[in-house]
Amino acid sequence: MNVMNLHQQEKKCPICKSSANPSRLDGNSKIYRVNCSICGEFNATEIFLEDYSGYEFPKKYLIQGILQERNLKNLSTTLFSGNGSFKKTGGDFTIEELLKTVTQVENPSQKIDKLLENSEILLNHNAGENLCLSLTSSYPLAYSRSEKEFDFILKTMNQEGYFLSMGKNASNSSKYDIKLSLKAWKRIEELKKQNINSNQGFVACIFDPNHKQFLEAIREGIIQSKFDPMSIDREDYQETILEKGLGEIRKSRFVVADLTEESGSVFIEIGFAMGLGMQPILVIKEDYWEKRKGEEGKLEFYSQNYKILSYKDEQELSIKVETAIRARIESR
Ligand SMILES: [Zn+2]
Repeated sequence: MNVMNLHQQEKKCPICKSSANPSRLDGNSKIYRVNCSICGEFNATEIFLEDYSGYEFPKKYLIQGILQERNLKNLSTTLFSGNGSFKKTGGDFTIEELLKTVTQVENPSQKIDKLLENSEILLNHNAGENLCLSLTSSYPLAYSRSEKEFDFILKTMNQEGYFLSMGKNASNSSKYDIKLSLKAWKRIEELKKQNINSNQGFVACIFDPNHKQFLEAIREGIIQSKFDPMSIDREDYQETILEKGLGEIRKSRFVVADLTEESGSVFIEIGFAMGLGMQPILVIKEDYWEKRKGEEGKLEFYSQNYKILSYKDEQELSIKVETAIRARIESR
């Protein structure tokens, strides 16, 4: 590592390469503070700045969106590269780790949702206040790739009735003055219920060594749909474990519940998720279901009122879970 090189170089934001003049953090000469007008404020290690000095990030718009969102939420971020030693604490990420903190934001409706969520924080929850957005620097708030895409998102939102008013700022024509409409505030409320920022899918399943391969198959289906599976090992089952499970459901984007063997705690978790407004993805092993069909009980209630996906083996289970998640998350 040649420290001199960094100082001789023009100091730029490592993400968007605009001039940001990273400066050393006090007391820690290996970490720099970057204050970029587009990506926001974050820290980066000296090695990160060097490793990525000429690198064009393929997912730049996602990185910028995440950094700006973390800024708005007052979460500090330190970026480090896989090279060199660095003692990790909370808020420290490699680029790969940072990208895992949000689900993919690709289509215009997902970008509109992101801008609405960020607008609420910018407005400090004040409906009726004016929101001033700059085409040249605010576009990461909508996870946009460019000013052009951001302009499209804003005009589309106006057309769709998300704005009560939208006009060019009197003193700066690259800025828009916007007021959110009731439709926008209603959508913001809706998004809070959906845990839309969560990357986690909870697995409710009986804990039994003979059923473990199916739990793993559900986890695999969740991974294939680009989410992080969360399941709780219930080997030493206690009430505190159930409480932990309910806490994790609260943080999850969705729940996949395996009804096989009709575990009491699985039904509690399903009920809890439904109470939060989630519609769990229900699965069951085909031979178990065949055996229990026609018998009265919870299973009959669920099969009459909800769609249950049956599976023959692990492979089929993984595919059905993945398909169900994709259908649900993308069909907003
Ligand atoms: Zn930047």
